[in-house]
Amino acid sequence: MTVPSSIMVECPVCKQETLHEVLSGKIGGKAQTVLESTVKCKECGHIHHCVLKAEKPVNLPVVISWLDKSRKSSLALGPDEVLSVEDEVMCGDEQIIVTSIESKGARVGRAKARDIQTVWGKRFDKVRVPFSVSQVSKTFSEHILAVPDEEFYVGDILKVGRHEVVIHSIKIKDKSLRMGGARARDIVRVYANIVRKTSY
Ligand SMILES: [Zn+2]
Repeated sequence: MTVPSSIMVECPVCKQETLHEVLSGKIGGKAQTVLESTVKCKECGHIHHCVLKAEKPVNLPVVISWLDKSRKSSLALGPDEVLSVEDEVMCGDEQIIVTSIESKGARVGRAKARDIQTVWGKRFDKVRVPFSVSQVSKTFSEHILAVPDEEFYVGDILKVGRHEVVIHSIKIKDKSLRMGGARARDIVRVYANIVRKTSY
């Protein structure tokens, strides 16, 4: 077991179980895993110390989608660990980003592992970056696969499909960039022109 980043515990100020950020923690114990940690209530900000006896991890079924396919895997979490949509977790040896969580028959934004029935995620080790490539009067669509943090800049020259192209603008969530760059994970579409080859 590793120290979780957030846990559900009773807050002495809120007088109920709330989500807490784990500020520091250490794991000990022999017969039973014991997590001693300093936690901060996300509701009221109160910082307190807590000792949790960790129960056996639960195995959550995970449906991982990758491009147009999906398949089943599983994820082991401590029963009190909280999983949230958009968390990045390791599922076996794959990095995934959580896209949806089913708990008690409903889709939720986050839940304790013990209350989760199914997790949906998508593979996160590569993302598809769509390109629109213009060539004189026609435009065609292509894509490349990139790691999520790979950066693309206006003016970059790269190979897309069979063509060498130069990026002239990048569309991200709510704007188009005509200079600068963006990370693959934030890109909606890249617009590029074919690089004209000059023959000597
Ligand atoms: Zn509180």
